[in-house]
Amino acid sequence: MSREDLANLIFPNITKTVADYEKEYPARNLKEGAMVTRFAPSPTGFMHIGNFLAVVIDYVMAKNSQGVFYLRNEDTDQAREVEGAIEYIRQVLTHYDMNPDEYEYRDINETKGNYGPYIQSERKEIYQAFIKQLLIEGKAYPCFLTQEEMDSIRESQARDKRRIGIYGRFAKYRDLAVEEAIERIKNGEKYTIRLKSSGDFNRKFKFNDLVNGEMEFPENDIDIPIMKSSNGLPTYHFAHLVDDYLMHTTHVVRGQEWISSIPIHYELFKTFGFKMPKYVHIPLILKKDGEKVRKISKRLDPEARMSYYEEKGYPTLAVIEAIMTIANSNYEAWREGHPDALFTDFTFSPKKMSASGALFDLDKLDNISKNYISHLTKEEVYEGVLNWSKKYDLGFNEILKKYPDYSKEIYNIEREQKKPRKDYRYYSEIKAKTWYMYDEYFQDIKYDFLNYDLEEVKKVLKTYIDNNCFVESDTQEEWFNKMKSICADLGYAREVKEYKENPDKYKGNIIDISNIIRISLTTLDNTPNLYNIMQILGKDRIIARFSKILN
Ligand code: GLU
Repeated sequence: MSREDLANLIFPNITKTVADYEKEYPARNLKEGAMVTRFAPSPTGFMHIGNFLAVVIDYVMAKNSQGVFYLRNEDTDQAREVEGAIEYIRQVLTHYDMNPDEYEYRDINETKGNYGPYIQSERKEIYQAFIKQLLIEGKAYPCFLTQEEMDSIRESQARDKRRIGIYGRFAKYRDLAVEEAIERIKNGEKYTIRLKSSGDFNRKFKFNDLVNGEMEFPENDIDIPIMKSSNGLPTYHFAHLVDDYLMHTTHVVRGQEWISSIPIHYELFKTFGFKMPKYVHIPLILKKDGEKVRKISKRLDPEARMSYYEEKGYPTLAVIEAIMTIANSNYEAWREGHPDALFTDFTFSPKKMSASGALFDLDKLDNISKNYISHLTKEEVYEGVLNWSKKYDLGFNEILKKYPDYSKEIYNIEREQKKPRKDYRYYSEIKAKTWYMYDEYFQDIKYDFLNYDLEEVKKVLKTYIDNNCFVESDTQEEWFNKMKSICADLGYAREVKEYKENPDKYKGNIIDISNIIRISLTTLDNTPNLYNIMQILGKDRIIARFSKILN
């Protein structure tokens, strides 16, 4: 009996060969230098900022080189699968407008691309054809070690301070006669298929990681499992090899926790004689915590979850900008020179990525975002708040839809000027900073007139109305002069200077008058330009708000 008989016994229905699949998935027809990148999440948790950094890099590399960015669902570990994980990734990619060129979305029944299926559990037969070839060539074998046996091997290795794993003399079944293997399988014995490693742990090989530079590793000599017979699905290591090969990935961007798997991946590619893609192992994302710098944590830091940015309503391009600044140290300088370029016009250079950790700073994101929002048109801001509120604040959304032009005028305050006002970090903040403009929110408000006495406030407001101080067509100067004109009657100085020279002579000065008016109209003692606010509120609202206090 031959190895071929063994392979046929294990995979009776697998008739296609590796060569057949190579024909089915020919090289991509792309221009020289085009990069093929992939985001290959395991649906075992929700997308976090580390994944997002990988996606942004994948996307920029592919778009900048006119290549392909595809999404691959690595769902071989079905016991750990979290429902909705890929659906969420789809939403995030859509939200940031970084849609993959090729993908398969089960939830919306949509698929695109000629190199699929893009879900690993749908590729079982492909993997099995590759495993079958290894069995025929004697490079893989069925291993009959039971769980108990493996546990006891592990214990003894730990006790003797040896490396853990099935290698050397622990690989009890690697040289089992084909006849015996066939017999055991026919008898229904459970088995795992393992790689028959040809590596030597005492030999070293060099590996060039694009971020970390040249690295040296001992060869892998562990007979790693490549397929469990229970569901016929390969392990992650094996599946990624087959997929990256057939899908013609040129650059693998992934977290640096995978660096320790390099010896295995190196051996797998060598075993088949396939060229390895290039690897971009990206560092962990760090954050400042007081004086310390530590790894960002999904448990401790809300900003580690991608949902944080959407809930707050950060403009997507601001988040991408902030991520680009940690992806490449030269990004900010490039941006200064190319203020209007797309972020995908930037050529990402893995060498300019810090291997030791990427420090992500929320204050920095806030600044980028403030600056970004300040340069939008009032229409764009309105669109942004409208979209955000559709999902996160329906009440506000209704109000925005009811008063589109009014809202745009509010966002326009101190916008169309050389140095526009930078006061919004994200769309949810816009509501927090403009709510008082809407009567709907101005119902049961509480005033705090600071050290102004309520009777005094009333006197000021009444005088302001009686003297017909607010005229919609007035310029800012006229408006201000009218406010000054009631100062004397009320016992306030027209100029701050006058007041300072003779404080005992006055109750206060023009600033107090405008403060009283400001608080009466907004409840706040600090707002954007009061003239603009009053112009937008209009006479009726102003009189109504004053009257409420007067009565
Ligand atoms: N499925 C792996 C993960 O979720 C991807 C590793 C890789 O990109 O090769 O981390």
